Amino acid sequence: MNLTAPVISISGIGTKFAGKLTKLGISTIFDLLYHLPFRYENRLLISPVSQVQPGETVTVIGKIISIKNEFTHSGRFVQKGILEDNTGQINIVWFNQMFLVKSLKGKNVALYGKADFFGKQIALVSPEYEFYTSNTELVHMGRVVPVYPETAGVSSKWLRSKIFSLLKILPETDPWPAPGLPLWKETLINIHFPKILNSQFSILNYKNRLAYDEIFLLQTKSLNLRSVWQKINLSHPFTLDQSQVLNFISNLPFTLTSGQNQAIKEILNSLSLPAPMNRLLEGDVGSGKTVVAAIAAFITHLNGFQSIFLAPTQILATQHYQTLSALFKPYGIKIALVTANTKNSHFSLLNSQLVVGTHALLSDKNKDIFEKVGLVVIDEQHRFGVLQRALAAKLGSSPHILTMTATPIPRSVALTMFGELDLSQLPEKPAGRIPVKTWIVPESKRSTSYPWILNQLQATSLPASRQAFWVCPFIDTSESAISVKAVTAEYDRLSKIFTGLKLGLLHGRLKSADKDKVITSFKAGDYDILVTTPIVEVGIDIPNASIIIIEGAERFGLAQLHQLRGRVGRNSTTSYCLLFTSSGEVPKRLKALETLDSGIQLAELDLKYRGPGEIYGTSQHGFPEFKIAGYDNIELIEKARNEAKKVLPQINSYPLLRDLIENDKITLIQPN
Ligand code: ADP
Ligand code: MG
Repeated sequence: MNLTAPVISISGIGTKFAGKLTKLGISTIFDLLYHLPFRYENRLLISPVSQVQPGETVTVIGKIISIKNEFTHSGRFVQKGILEDNTGQINIVWFNQMFLVKSLKGKNVALYGKADFFGKQIALVSPEYEFYTSNTELVHMGRVVPVYPETAGVSSKWLRSKIFSLLKILPETDPWPAPGLPLWKETLINIHFPKILNSQFSILNYKNRLAYDEIFLLQTKSLNLRSVWQKINLSHPFTLDQSQVLNFISNLPFTLTSGQNQAIKEILNSLSLPAPMNRLLEGDVGSGKTVVAAIAAFITHLNGFQSIFLAPTQILATQHYQTLSALFKPYGIKIALVTANTKNSHFSLLNSQLVVGTHALLSDKNKDIFEKVGLVVIDEQHRFGVLQRALAAKLGSSPHILTMTATPIPRSVALTMFGELDLSQLPEKPAGRIPVKTWIVPESKRSTSYPWILNQLQATSLPASRQAFWVCPFIDTSESAISVKAVTAEYDRLSKIFTGLKLGLLHGRLKSADKDKVITSFKAGDYDILVTTPIVEVGIDIPNASIIIIEGAERFGLAQLHQLRGRVGRNSTTSYCLLFTSSGEVPKRLKALETLDSGIQLAELDLKYRGPGEIYGTSQHGFPEFKIAGYDNIELIEKARNEAKKVLPQINSYPLLRDLIENDKITLIQPN
């Protein structure tokens, strides 16, 4: 058996069903085995025919001694039959299934259904049937049966019989070690076909094994990636010119925080090793990650290599381009910007020491600019693994990789998800930053807050006239037409309220040139209020904006609100965050934002209240979410990690596991 074999290799599954199964996320034998029931039905009761009571739902086993089609007064076909066992006979009726007469006549079957009065006699009404001989095992009745997530053309019954036969041929030995937990085969059998219901304890035990498997496989995959990465030797290891770096640092318009210094030290250390760096730099919004990356790019330049700076949006790419241009100007370093909207000659790209851009940068037409890339910086990008592999394929060589994120990463998550990465963290923000004053504004106080906002935006006595973000939540999926309509309506509404002010409108469905225009105008102070979707969540740096109003705050996770709040508080005056809630009752968890200013603490809270999905927003972030395991189970995570470490060097002794890792077919266990 091979767990990564396509489902088509299972007898009875052809291309037609294989195609349908992909809709359930099932393409391999592994996927099918881990397609878990979302509930069970108790069909254990097998009753002698003579004892069947009306109202009972039962399984009976016997022979169909007669069956025929009858035409009713109401114009329907009824199939009437009789089943006999050694205690007696019972009537059966089906409706409009004429083919049953032919297929069931004279057959030994098991029937499962509800007994009721049909006319004056007891009958099983529209029961399910399964052929039965004394040496077959019943799959769909006479036992506890699993009910699965289904899709068009793929019923639970169909899945049940395929999984049932698959379980029969599973190897007895565990494919990977799981000390102290139930055996693999036993687990899968009991999860799909538990012997009895209500045995909470043993189901829990088996779920624990599945959770372990989920974490273990992910860990093994990350650790494997890491070891592959570390076996690569760079053809041109970097050397460090300390004095040039110190000079660069001393020319900065500010003093680095101790966190920044520490991160720079760790990065420089990695850069001087013969293997490529693969490091994650994690720091709250505004903690100053860009300059840390810039220093890495500076070293890369000193070593005669190019750096690539990847940003998730055009807005951010443009912003980085401006920041980095200013930083590198004194050193004669040429910088290019590549987005879907820019036109660069190949020549200019090849001759730039730093290329900043969006994913457009990775398009094939830019292929040959990647010849001398020594460093890739990936900003605010959560699809770490995916992108790394795409890059590796693209570059042919192995650059150093620095991934940056403001997403707070609780310890359990870091342990689980980032096994392949080294981690640097910026624990504090630059000195002098004032925490953003945060207030929850219930619906009843909304209108009284407007004059206050107006006053803040118009006050002339402040060091600079303030600007505000006005954020509307996504109504349904991210930048859908409905969300855009909502933000546009809000823009119209606010335009009528704040008649003396200038308002801008930003959302993801604007053409990117228009997006850039809006951001640039806002940065230049042309708007007092920028009405926007959460598109501004990621990275935008507009120091003069010091108020952020968030509509429908209860729709957001805490960590996400914290990220949004990080758009302000970037100058030396007090900034404000107003959380408007539209639901009647203010959710308790929101209160934490009024007092906590640490992304990581808020993330831990989200983890506790709402699960990891809320830290990372929706699936657009591509963070794998556990379906069975939980990030709160540190003990299991650590156990799985230790086992993964032990197993990896001797992976050849575990062929099923080796196959999974090598084929990289470890998908997460399916939702149920
Ligand atoms: P983030 O970590 O969110 O990407 P940025 O790199 O955009 O943060 O930095 C936020 C702002 O702080 C920028 O305007 C940057 O110039 C400034 N900054 C960075 N480091 C320091 C520092 N040590 N002292 C003061 N300001 C700093
Ligand atoms: Mg940033």
